[in-house]
Amino acid sequence: MYKSGRHFLQIPGPSNVPDRVLRAMDFPTMDHRGPDFADIGKKALEGMKSIFKTEQDVVIFPSSGTGAWEAALVNTLSAGDRVLMYETGHFATLWQALAKRLGLQPEFIPSDWRSGADPEKIEAYLRADKNHEIKAVCVVHNETSTGSVTQVKEVRDAIDSAGHPALLMVDSISGLASIDFQFDAWGVDVAVSGSQKGLMLPPGLSFNAISAKARAASAKATLPKSYWAWDEMKGPNEKGYFPYTPATNLLYGLNVAIDMLHEEGLDAVFARHARHGEATRQAVRTWGLDILCSDPRHYSNVLTTVVMPTGSSADAFRKTTLDNFDMSLGSGLSKVADRVFRIGHLGHFNDLMLMATLSGVEMGLKLASVPHNRGGAQAAMDYLTNSERPTEAIAAAQ
Ligand SMILES: *Cc1c(COP(=O)(O)O)cnc(C)c1O
Repeated sequence: MYKSGRHFLQIPGPSNVPDRVLRAMDFPTMDHRGPDFADIGKKALEGMKSIFKTEQDVVIFPSSGTGAWEAALVNTLSAGDRVLMYETGHFATLWQALAKRLGLQPEFIPSDWRSGADPEKIEAYLRADKNHEIKAVCVVHNETSTGSVTQVKEVRDAIDSAGHPALLMVDSISGLASIDFQFDAWGVDVAVSGSQKGLMLPPGLSFNAISAKARAASAKATLPKSYWAWDEMKGPNEKGYFPYTPATNLLYGLNVAIDMLHEEGLDAVFARHARHGEATRQAVRTWGLDILCSDPRHYSNVLTTVVMPTGSSADAFRKTTLDNFDMSLGSGLSKVADRVFRIGHLGHFNDLMLMATLSGVEMGLKLASVPHNRGGAQAAMDYLTNSERPTEAIAAAQ
């Protein structure tokens, strides 16, 4: 049935797609082996390097983020290899399950889903692995099921302090282009990302950034791979082409999305997310509700996960906001199903979109009879009007 006005898609991905990106994709599909395509392919591959902050290789798959998870593992590892993973939440758990199905031996550091990975635990685990049997450490940068961030540089430092040669693999599917990610400076070996979160595109593209060390490991890795094989990509990519049909129209959109990120400036993009994250947390505290992430050093500026008061159903509340205000909020996944809801504040987003979102949440709490204090949206407004807008702050610092 027709609903007047815009739907509010406030889940933490897929995120809102800007009209400029939609227009860029609304263009005839072209010959992906023809002469005009090479410029588009080259621009996309080079552009993604600037987003990952790397001078090393990036590959692009026509797939969801899960495909790039699989690609990271099958290109670098062999059957039976031990890999160290960290249970930050639902997505870390899925990556671990995928590793198991591929015939790897994931070892999972357990956690209560309320923080990012603890580098000290990783370091202790690696120190105990005297024979260096663990081949990779895999962490999720922004754990989208909980709203906790792992400090990737600290994990790199932990691996180095343990003197361990394992590869560092990072899922930044929902972190990239919303919070800072520095592939080269942080010494990441394989990064995994997707198009439908901070990159502001529809779902359908995924990415690996690949270090020289990961490239060398791929020469010896024996897990079977074909669709995901990095070495099949290399030759065609150098000329701006792909070994099989790329998602042509999504690439048109990607190139425009990358331009938009650089027009705003990556630092301004991250500052905007930080500001909206803080405004949201102030609203949640004013409502008297808990933020699932319990460590302020790990707060996510991509999304905020709100714990429901005992006796209230998160799913019933989300149904109320959808039915009354045409706004989708993120659900609680697996362990925290129906106990939390997630507010996405990532990608193509601004102050008034945040205020509409928080107003919808506050009205929904009232309509669904969820015990809370009034004034959360007001607290966010006060924060937004009293804090500098990020572009101004960045310009002033220069
Ligand atoms: C969205 C997401 C995934 C899954 O990506 P798909 O595109 O659904 O396959 C994995 N990890 C994280 C952290 C995510 O946010």
